[in-house]
Amino acid sequence: MERLIVIGSGPAGLTAAVYAARANLAPLVFAGYQYGGQLMFTTEVENYPGFPSGVLGPELMESFRAQAQRFGAKIQNVDVTQVDFTQRPLRVWTGQIVFEAESVIVATGASARWLGVPGEAALRGRGVSTCATCDGAFFKDKTIVVVGGGDSAMEEAIFLTRFGSHVTVLHRRDTLRASKIMADRARAHPKITFAFNVAVAEVRGDHALQSLVVRDTVTGATSELAADALFIAIGHDPNTAVFEGQLDRDAHGYVLSPDGVHTNATGVFVAGDVYDIRYKQAVTAAGMGCRAALEAERYLEERDAERALAERTPAEPAAASR
Ligand code: NAP
Repeated sequence: MERLIVIGSGPAGLTAAVYAARANLAPLVFAGYQYGGQLMFTTEVENYPGFPSGVLGPELMESFRAQAQRFGAKIQNVDVTQVDFTQRPLRVWTGQIVFEAESVIVATGASARWLGVPGEAALRGRGVSTCATCDGAFFKDKTIVVVGGGDSAMEEAIFLTRFGSHVTVLHRRDTLRASKIMADRARAHPKITFAFNVAVAEVRGDHALQSLVVRDTVTGATSELAADALFIAIGHDPNTAVFEGQLDRDAHGYVLSPDGVHTNATGVFVAGDVYDIRYKQAVTAAGMGCRAALEAERYLEERDAERALAERTPAEPAAASR
């Protein structure tokens, strides 16, 4: 029986693990086969406090991990496949193996969204990608297209200028969603151009990407655009499929919580992007991981106290009668 299981190993899960480990809970962390969360697919992180010169995303996450392990967190790089939060102890499966726990922190984060257009799935890894850090270097001196109008799209486009001969950003509206500083940086880059009111309707290529069929979202007119690479940066979906029927979720699948830490299941807490639709930052996720660990700790202390009281209670009338 574990005192605490943490599901997820991004900033939220690993901060929870650091706090829980320092509270002597020896948390068991299911980190996932692709551990470390979204920062593993990022280059330079410039806004994580404490790193005035920036830090590489994977480097930051390895540090989180080492810090949790230093205090006794047990980390397994496996995916959770099933949970049962309806009874005590709580149960968590990784394939055929079932683990029992008194408390659980859900910090499974979110995954990159795909367009869902014809040709996209077949050409994944053959010119179509959601990770510039992973795949950008394959497209040296090639023509690259980035889809999206948020900070991710700006960041990917700027990063991809290191490799591509040219980067075109396609956005479905005429106004960017990105923050001003990111948008200005992308706009000022000589290798980047923008095409507004444009959506990708189809991805074409035999063995590798060759072109995109794009649609003008105002007129509906379609045309073909040659491209060697397509990077999709249109946001994320929460990783909550495994909690279906166990945790209350909103229409988009994000875990619901009245206070951003408790869930509908007693002893199960939430942290990070799997709940947070508003801020979605590494530092806010880390803060949420801290809160979840402190709440789990308090919950376990209260359970311990109740258990101790229940064990003492039958003896007390006899003691009183003496
Ligand atoms: P986001 O802010 O939700 O932006 C997603 C973009 O993709 C939007 O422009 C959206 O268009 C577009 N989009 C969504 N679905 C689409 C579809 N099916 N087809 C075409 N376009 C589609 O997501 P994000 O850019 O990943 O950023 C997420 C959060 O992380 C934000 O809070 C952001 O500030 C933060 N972030 C910060 C940094 C940084 O500061 N360095 C870097 C990356 C991310 P609409 O605008 O029309 O909705």
